[in-house]
Amino acid sequence: MIVGVLVELSNKKIDRIFDYKVEKQLIDSIRVGIRVEVPFGHQVLEGFILEIKKDSDIDNLKSIIGIVDQDIILNQELIELGRTIQKKTLATLISCYQVMLPKALKAKKNTIINKKYDIYYRLGENLEGNFNRTQQNIINMCKTGEVKREDLVKISPSSLKTLVRKNILIEEKREHYRLEYQDSRDKIKELTENQKEVVESVQLEKEGTYLLHGVTGSGKTEVYIKLIEKVLKKHKTALMLVPEISLTPQMIHRFSEVFGNQIAALHSALSEGEKYDEWRKINRGEVSIVIGARSAIFAPLSNLGIIIIDEEHSDSYKQDNNPRYDARDVAIIRSKTNHCPLIMGSATPSLEAFARAGKGVFQLLSMPNRINGKRLPQVELIDMNQEIKKGNSYFSSRLIEQIKKRLQKKEQVILLLNRRGYASFVTCKNCGYTAKCPQCDITLTYHKTSNMLRCHYCGYATNLKKKCPECREESISSLGIGTERVEEELKKILKNTRILRMDYDTTSRKGTHSKMISEFKNHEYDILLGTQIVAKGLDFEDVTLVGVINADTSLNIPDFRSSENTFSLLSQVSGRSGRSTKEGSVIIQTFNPDHYAIQFVQSHDYIGFYKREMQIRYQLKYPPYYYICYLKVSSKDYQEASKETNKIKKCLEKNLKEEIILGPSPANIFKLNNIYRYGIIIKYKKDTNLYQILNRLIEHYRSNSKVNLELDFNPNHF
Ligand code: ADP
Ligand code: ZN
Repeated sequence: MIVGVLVELSNKKIDRIFDYKVEKQLIDSIRVGIRVEVPFGHQVLEGFILEIKKDSDIDNLKSIIGIVDQDIILNQELIELGRTIQKKTLATLISCYQVMLPKALKAKKNTIINKKYDIYYRLGENLEGNFNRTQQNIINMCKTGEVKREDLVKISPSSLKTLVRKNILIEEKREHYRLEYQDSRDKIKELTENQKEVVESVQLEKEGTYLLHGVTGSGKTEVYIKLIEKVLKKHKTALMLVPEISLTPQMIHRFSEVFGNQIAALHSALSEGEKYDEWRKINRGEVSIVIGARSAIFAPLSNLGIIIIDEEHSDSYKQDNNPRYDARDVAIIRSKTNHCPLIMGSATPSLEAFARAGKGVFQLLSMPNRINGKRLPQVELIDMNQEIKKGNSYFSSRLIEQIKKRLQKKEQVILLLNRRGYASFVTCKNCGYTAKCPQCDITLTYHKTSNMLRCHYCGYATNLKKKCPECREESISSLGIGTERVEEELKKILKNTRILRMDYDTTSRKGTHSKMISEFKNHEYDILLGTQIVAKGLDFEDVTLVGVINADTSLNIPDFRSSENTFSLLSQVSGRSGRSTKEGSVIIQTFNPDHYAIQFVQSHDYIGFYKREMQIRYQLKYPPYYYICYLKVSSKDYQEASKETNKIKKCLEKNLKEEIILGPSPANIFKLNNIYRYGIIIKYKKDTNLYQILNRLIEHYRSNSKVNLELDFNPNHF
């Protein structure tokens, strides 16, 4: 027997399947998809068996050393899927499999993650004889059924051992999972007519992609729940993706209320051990619903009956490092393989998805109204140009007045500090100098608590000095605002108001996020102040005012999607207001009150925004009219990087006649960790011979140790 093994080695030069022999004693355990140990040069490496065959073209094959784990880690569907993703992203094949697995299953010598066990005792055959008091006690306890070791704490290990040896007790070690969900089944809500219509439009027995366009508060979650229930009744399984940021304890709680311990959740707040356990529950077919962030799209569910992607527009579904896959594309592939529907829901669908729905590639489902016919909140725009003149730099008089009004009524307020890609930084008021990272060439972020400047890319840190290194004046001061600063200012104006600050710093410790959400729900705070993290998925019934402190930061980013991202962020955060019986309103502070993205947020007009933005995309040849592939060339050697980038550009121009080729230009972050980076953009409509050319380039640079070439199809960032 010969097996084809893909070894776990992160080396772009060695990314192919190697043949090995299997010795007689191992033959019975060999199956496709298990992990094995193989000799590789002078090392022993782990790898996956991807194929079993009779013979090989290669002589003198080495034999595999042993089996790492009996379980099949990569089932047939995932093996195929990995190959497809490799072809689409041109990443290494091994990276396409590694991304599917929890860390505990990857070959890293020092990440050994143990399984957890419980020990149980039950009565054995031999119950005759004379027992001392302790022994008789244990026997009595076990008479009504098995007893956990934990419940026998007072008993010494030696008395237990004796009883087991005499066959009076039987000891059994059974694995337990770190996370268990309560099995309390709650009823599914009675659906509204519109919700029912949507549920019935979905054909469960065949493949097909549906785009559910439902305004905030239209009850999309209950639609998902109903669909999943129908799928479970057919004894099939369900996979639901949500962005990390909206995978809140609220969401998991709602699902576990209905589906109890049939769920496994996969997200970054779990420890590696918890992820490992959740993954094995899925792989062993012990759960039928998986909820998770991006990489959960690879959950090894068999008999898949539905895939749901909530907040379809979220850029978190696209991975920013290798393999640069898009979970939405992977979902389409899995829905085809499994002949099951894919539902993508959003209040603000991505332009790409809505355009496809327009062409009939996706089937459009609409929920234009909030539950119980409640109105969407009134949105008011405040022109900050005028406020600055009045001396109000953070808060307009109108916003403060409205906050006070809500607080008097014991209602709650959410304030968004739009910080997309930006943080607080320091500049010299005299000469305009801004502190940058010496290694990465990006602006350093000011951390007030430690009075330090930090690079958010490489971690470089330095003390803040008052004196400017350029002009020698003592004029360095912090500009740009962080949530800490806003909180301070707000406390000055609204004394004795309880403000809860939520951002990536305050929620990074495990469990804090969930604690904050329940504290706010219980009215332990009046105002929830935070970054993008407060914009999505939260459902608090007493929030009647949402304030956006600075709408413009996300508009000013040099990115063709900045209007779209701003429109969807502001619409999403507006949707947190007035979700229950009380009427809600929204106040948006902006320096660009006439910008169309902001105007369409005010009128809650997604379609209007879509049409306007599509015209711009058409004129400038951007997606969805063109696809984009971004080529990243990087090297430690500045000369080398620039030389090779130019060569690549020439090669592309020679071979690609229909495509538009832009660049080369220095990447947005030109110097990162002392590596220089250039980019070339290809805009294309059809990929006729694009892949062939790109594959050749990738092959060529595989063996180049000085210059690295990476590809990003449909990139989030340049
Ligand atoms: P969306 O995800 O579309 O923003 P949600 O699914 O969070 O909206 O629903 C908004 C609110 O309406 C939630 O509080 C939810 O419990 C409630 N809701 C949803 N469907 C129903 C229904 N059929 N009957 C009563 N309340 C509902
Ligand atoms: Zn840095």
